[in-house]
Amino acid sequence: MLDRRKFIQGAALATAGIALTKHVDAEAPKLKHLQGKPIVISTWNHGMPANEAAWEVLKKGGRALDAVEAGVRVPEADPNVMTVGYGGFPDRDGFVTLDACIMDEKGNAGSVAFLQDIMHPISVARLVMEKTPHVMLVGDGARQFALANGFKKENLLTDKARKAWEDWKKESKYKPVINIENHDTISLLAIDSKGDISGACTTSGAAFKMHGRVGDSPIIGAGLFCDNEVGGAAATGQGELVMKTLGSFLVVELMRSGMSPQKACEEAVMRIVKKIPNYKESQIGYIAINKAGETGAYCLHPGFNYALYKDDKNTLIDAKSFLKD
Ligand code: ASP
Repeated sequence: MLDRRKFIQGAALATAGIALTKHVDAEAPKLKHLQGKPIVISTWNHGMPANEAAWEVLKKGGRALDAVEAGVRVPEADPNVMTVGYGGFPDRDGFVTLDACIMDEKGNAGSVAFLQDIMHPISVARLVMEKTPHVMLVGDGARQFALANGFKKENLLTDKARKAWEDWKKESKYKPVINIENHDTISLLAIDSKGDISGACTTSGAAFKMHGRVGDSPIIGAGLFCDNEVGGAAATGQGELVMKTLGSFLVVELMRSGMSPQKACEEAVMRIVKKIPNYKESQIGYIAINKAGETGAYCLHPGFNYALYKDDKNTLIDAKSFLKD
């Protein structure tokens, strides 16, 4: 005869089994719907050309990982995007230092931080993921690794960025200006025709930051997180706020618990509002996508936009914000 404890355990397992079956059944039609329908979502208006490059990969049936890397390489190489890669604003000592990370559909992750002289940190991050037993390389070690793997040493400080730095030095005040191109990371998430999700995030970080400062962008779980069972999320804005709340991981975990990508982004912004007293001084934006191909975005202050490539159309959309000023 079953004793009462075993009976309760058995009943609990049976309930869990039923719940699991229900969950799988509920997911199946959504995934089917998604087959052959890639989606790309990325931060800010430099996301538009990045999405185009990602779409080129996806429309041929390519892998989300290849798409996210190809996408963010566009602003990395564009000297007019002064917040990512080549042409990025330097730190307060005049050095362009780059942060980037990437995650694939298997949960593999690679990251570089405080990397100098290399135009495409995202490709170095991918190589860290694929060719080393580690997740993250920083500073000179990351640069040596890149050079040893065929990346070229390049001067990333353009005349335009140097001039901006020289102007900034007149007052030398470190005060990020909301939505004014001094913290505009490209974060890009993609779902491919198989329904696999990957993400990439790359930045020159906060303009005129302290030498050695690393933000959220190369930190797995802060600037970016993907879980192929659930979805992906990524951040932009004042990295310190994202790091203190592990924002992208939070968004994915909220989606895991059943929230839509939109609601999960809103909740992650609310976490900052609740936990960080001076949150009004900074801008933060999140983007997210789930396995069913639903997307979401939310920010603290008005002014954050994101690029969404869906159903063969690339669109720039203003994200809803918590503050209305
Ligand atoms: N999150 C980046 C950082 O704090 C900057 C940005 O998103 O613009 O380094």
